[in-house]
Amino acid sequence: MLTRRHMMLGVAALTVPLPAIAAPDYRLAPDEIADGVWLIPGAQDSITRANGGAICNIVMLATSDGAVVVDTGGTFRHGTALRAFAEQRLGGVAAVINTHHHPDHWFGNQAFADRPIMALPASRAAQAAGGQALTDGLYRILGSWMNGTAPVPALQDAATGDVTIGGRHLHLLPMAGHTQADLVITDTATGTLIAGDMLFLDRAPSFPDARIAEWRAGLAELAQMQVSGTVPGHGPYHRDSRAVAQTLAYLNAFQARLDMAATMGLAPAEALAAGPAPEFAGLGANPEEYHRAVVQRWADFENSALPVIGGSV
Ligand SMILES: [Zn+2]
Repeated sequence: MLTRRHMMLGVAALTVPLPAIAAPDYRLAPDEIADGVWLIPGAQDSITRANGGAICNIVMLATSDGAVVVDTGGTFRHGTALRAFAEQRLGGVAAVINTHHHPDHWFGNQAFADRPIMALPASRAAQAAGGQALTDGLYRILGSWMNGTAPVPALQDAATGDVTIGGRHLHLLPMAGHTQADLVITDTATGTLIAGDMLFLDRAPSFPDARIAEWRAGLAELAQMQVSGTVPGHGPYHRDSRAVAQTLAYLNAFQARLDMAATMGLAPAEALAAGPAPEFAGLGANPEEYHRAVVQRWADFENSALPVIGGSV
């Protein structure tokens, strides 16, 4: 038997439209930083509901076959907005390159699934292995920004060395250190360096897959390159070598801080409480990125501080 309450609910369901769920929008701000080189900057922050995961820099290079899209953003909807810009302004999409496997750089791949999507082999493997877990984590952080997003790993190995796409000459240089595979791209015509997350500027570097010695070696190589301007993975386009210097200084300070903490026998909580080195406390995403980095990399430093056991006595 229907109660009045049931009847009221039933009537309400029939007559009152559900409130529209506001779909968040990505507002792109593309900037042509060099001839045919478009930068769509990311927020200088961690992935949050405020920024919808749009935190990494996206670069699009104009070619006669459409855009070469370097990284695709953090969600399907973000990728869709980027795709729309490429279609409306750059004659479509020639190819997509993922610089590495961190999700803010490739979770928009789904919007480009009908185009060739390339990445280094180790990045492709990491995308395939970790995609679902990353998806679950991002749904928890981003909520409705993630609606409809599913991981679409790159299906092609990125060629390295000199590559021509739609008449545009690029140089693809495989590096490592920020992750196990980091692709660095130079646009030959303009001399623009697209560094992926090998470089950060005014935003704290992230360390979930960092190999600090390799990263430092890569920075030394980047410092030698003659370029007209640099797009870091996170941070502003610039014409000097600031990002190389700042990323190296951050790595050195982070290593010194954790070396000291491990040598002193501190607990991770004490290293966390110490916070980032004062000169880096004001970078975007700090102190939370420092806190994550301590947790992610603590074992590396603790193991290296342990006395060697065994050997000749
Ligand atoms: Zn990254």
